[in-house]
Amino acid sequence: MQTIEKFNFADKKVFVRVDFNVPLDENGNITDDTRIRAALPTLKRILNDGGSLIIASHMGRPKKNPDIKYSLKQILAHVSDLLGIDVKFAPDCADEEAAKLAAGLKAGEALLLENLRFYAEEEGKPRGLAEDASDDEKAAAKKAVKESQKEFTKKLASYADCYVNDAFGTAHRAHASTALIAKYFDEGNKMFGYLMEKEVNAVQKILADTVRPFTAIMGGSKVSSKIEIIENLLTKVDNLIIAGGMTYTFTKALGGKIGRSICEDDKLDLALELMEKAEKNDVNMVLAVDAKIADDFSNDANTKFVAVDEIPDGWEGLDIGPETEKIFADVIRNSKTILWNGPTGVFEFDNFTSGSRAVGEAIVEATKNGAFSLVGGGDSVACVNKFGLADGVSYVSTGGGALLEAIEGCVLPGIEAIRGY
Ligand code: AMP
Repeated sequence: MQTIEKFNFADKKVFVRVDFNVPLDENGNITDDTRIRAALPTLKRILNDGGSLIIASHMGRPKKNPDIKYSLKQILAHVSDLLGIDVKFAPDCADEEAAKLAAGLKAGEALLLENLRFYAEEEGKPRGLAEDASDDEKAAAKKAVKESQKEFTKKLASYADCYVNDAFGTAHRAHASTALIAKYFDEGNKMFGYLMEKEVNAVQKILADTVRPFTAIMGGSKVSSKIEIIENLLTKVDNLIIAGGMTYTFTKALGGKIGRSICEDDKLDLALELMEKAEKNDVNMVLAVDAKIADDFSNDANTKFVAVDEIPDGWEGLDIGPETEKIFADVIRNSKTILWNGPTGVFEFDNFTSGSRAVGEAIVEATKNGAFSLVGGGDSVACVNKFGLADGVSYVSTGGGALLEAIEGCVLPGIEAIRGY
């Protein structure tokens, strides 16, 4: 397999798929440029080698072409600043002008293409179908967009000599620029960027090259959104810590009193099944024993600590209690591989951050002692950032949905397209 480290980009035109889907304020200013910065090592490596860049990304979920609110023109100046060169802009990613601009690029120059998703062909999903469209009409529209998707993909591929995918955030999508385009490049001319490589290696370290004991901490609000992940992890981990809002579905399933804590009543049987499966697989499933409860879903609510299965009516668990913090931290400190997905409580409220902070700190301690720790999937990333712990863990993933699908054990099209299986 080709790698970015080995490849010589001198005089090559390089199509780089990045994830520049950054948040913007109402005036179009970038509020968090982490995703752009994350791709810089790849982009700079290519430029320093004497290659030229065709930078391609999506932003948001545009419904038409153009959909100015989602224009990548808004980030052009910042990308130029970060790269230290005047990046050119193609106002349509797939027209003749874009092809001309790409063809005219000289060594060390860069072109940013307008939002790929202005074209329905990027995702390959039909647009503008009437709400009452028949199944036949839907099928015909789908077929049509799949047909034109081939032309669109070929067009993008025609701009460049080689293809680099550095967009882990969209690796779980089989879109034109994330997966389909790879087939227009030979084995030796397509590769992961540095960011993608780091993400793929981190998942590999967790799921394949696991050093034991392996502990996963699954938090967040609902069991239903994490079933597949929990099921897959039950075949891999030594310890599975259940935290956050999903705690109470397990507590209720075991016959406990949970007051008005968040609970999925239709998942009580599933919770019991998961516990049985854990026992069968010799997995130590670690549940909370106490909770910090509140008489209102607010930061200023009255609070107290109670046993997790004795929550009075009218009260709800918004974080784990001190006993649980100790139990979780002990398990984490004794682990050699750690995956953290989802907070232990409503960490957005300052009075309910203690559990998530304790988990984060225990992970940092274990990491200092040689464990490999991966934090990923949305809110746990926000947690480690909020508590200033990001530097103390081995890897903080940039890919929400993509990371979760990888942990579920799915093959990600963006990875498969380059690596093959
Ligand atoms: P997820 O996106 O599934 O990882 O869920 C993250 C969200 O779960 C955060 O916004 C937390 O506030 C929320 N959460 C965590 N614990 C609780 C809880 N005990 N009750 C309600 N929401 C919770």
